[in-house]
Amino acid sequence: MSIQRPQGVQDFLPRQTAEWQYVENEIRALCQSCGYEEIRTPVFEATELFRRGVGATTDIVNKEMFTFEDKNGRSLTLRPEGTAAVARAYAENKLYGQTPPWKLYYIGPMFRYEKPQAGRFHQFHQFGVEALGTGDPLADAEIVWLAWTLGEKLGLRGLSLRLNSVGCPVCRRNYHAALTAFLQPRAPELCADCRVRLEKNPLRVLDCKKEPCQATTAAAPELPDYLCPDCREHFAAVRSYLAATDTPYQLDSRLVRGLDYYCKTAFEIIAPGLGAQNAICGGGRYDGLMEELGGPPTPGVGFALGLERLLGALAEQNVSLPLSGPPRYVLAALGAEARRRAVRLAAELRAAGFTVLMDLQGQSLKSQLKFADRKGAAFTFICGENELERGVVAARDMRTGEQREIPLPELARALKDLR
Ligand SMILES: [Zn+2]
Ligand SMILES: [Zn+2]
Repeated sequence: MSIQRPQGVQDFLPRQTAEWQYVENEIRALCQSCGYEEIRTPVFEATELFRRGVGATTDIVNKEMFTFEDKNGRSLTLRPEGTAAVARAYAENKLYGQTPPWKLYYIGPMFRYEKPQAGRFHQFHQFGVEALGTGDPLADAEIVWLAWTLGEKLGLRGLSLRLNSVGCPVCRRNYHAALTAFLQPRAPELCADCRVRLEKNPLRVLDCKKEPCQATTAAAPELPDYLCPDCREHFAAVRSYLAATDTPYQLDSRLVRGLDYYCKTAFEIIAPGLGAQNAICGGGRYDGLMEELGGPPTPGVGFALGLERLLGALAEQNVSLPLSGPPRYVLAALGAEARRRAVRLAAELRAAGFTVLMDLQGQSLKSQLKFADRKGAAFTFICGENELERGVVAARDMRTGEQREIPLPELARALKDLR
């Protein structure tokens, strides 16, 4: 029998998992330092949530969802992103009844059916942050700062932060009209996808990566020129807070988010050397999302960061993560009776907080020492019947090979000194 894993998913073996855990620990510490708390929502949700929360016109909903029916014929979907579920949980659990803001983060697997290619998986992982119930520009700046600081903290070089304001429904209406008037006569020069976008959502034409479309839209009207006074003021405040924290950003008037509930701040973090998938993080304000999902009007701002891309960028730049764990010790027992007593000793040392391994193959002393070497043990404690009789163990320093006896009652204290 040789069953293989399905296309588009990965195994994370222990060595790789250690890197993921390191990054996740850094994420948790950073979120905690700003008062964000972890939320865990289900891996699947009602399909309707994503149709409304992610947008029925998006590629994600049209082409990329893993949708299935349960035994009662209800349509369910493996979550393709995290924000819609966080907003749903916020409304469903009536968190709005408590004092805002609600500062939440999540880390977990997401699912999208995309053409398998380098750096794209059907199951991938995102870290996301959402601040709900606040329209304060400081919340936008805090979110951007947090995403930026994570990259810095992990030692990524050459990151760039692109920032824009996409305005509110009021100023965007004017912009839409100007953009449509500009694009309509140029429609024949656009790709087939963009001609459809022009009808449904002209903003997304600016997003197209195809050369002819980029050339056609090069002289298109720019959104920041159409901001209303309120949006203009909000954007200026966000920028001033970013300047106050020395967070370097570049203004990018092309950075748009295609859906109606996105407003004001939009940002992206780009890592060099990841090819077409160079954005590791994207986010912004989405004040209209909660109402779209049937909840009470609630402003919100957040981002999602692709962990495969983040770890890919770390590997690309040869950033070595400090992965060393606590020291390991091996208890090598010789003989059946000694083994029974060593088991008890191991349990006591583990309870005292030490990492203690025992050979699980009933091997000779020589093999147990080899085992200790392979496991990177700092010391091996040899428990022969003779030693245990005298109430000692022989402690062998695995680097030098030196050996000395330590009385059993002193072992836990001695371990603290041995480190
Ligand atoms: Zn506005
Ligand atoms: Zn196009």
